[in-house]
Amino acid sequence: MGIDRKDTELLTVTFDKGMPYEWSIGKYGSRFFQEIKEHKRFLGTRCPKCGRVLVPPRRICGPCFQELDELVELSDTGTIMAFSVVNYPFIDPATGIQRPIPYTYGYINIDGSDNIFSHIINETDANKIKVGMKVRAVFKESQEMEGNIQDIKHFEIIR
Ligand SMILES: [Zn+2]
Repeated sequence: MGIDRKDTELLTVTFDKGMPYEWSIGKYGSRFFQEIKEHKRFLGTRCPKCGRVLVPPRRICGPCFQELDELVELSDTGTIMAFSVVNYPFIDPATGIQRPIPYTYGYINIDGSDNIFSHIINETDANKIKVGMKVRAVFKESQEMEGNIQDIKHFEIIR
């Protein structure tokens, strides 16, 4: 005896599920965002073996496998190492809404560090932005700070 599909009513089950979740950003991640929120200042970690300063602060230096425990204050300025003016609509995972296009994604070497920090640059005209230009972080107003990456509104070109 089989099931006659013609006589089978297909049922659906609908439910709305919110999926809020939280995850630990770790000791150094917490310090990094705390420092931005409270002092509008970047922190990195310095490797005792090779001297590299990494931002955001890391627990381990990848090339040396050294544990990093020296936090260093960094500038809010840096140099554009690469950038991309994005014209493709994209749902921002941090907000769940589409980021207005165009926007510019930048790879920035924060002054005093030895790696790349990526964030938005507020210039979307590709003719007005060049690798090597200096930028400065623009933070939210203090009362708007939440302790996350969006506390940095963007970087702006300073020269
Ligand atoms: Zn190292």
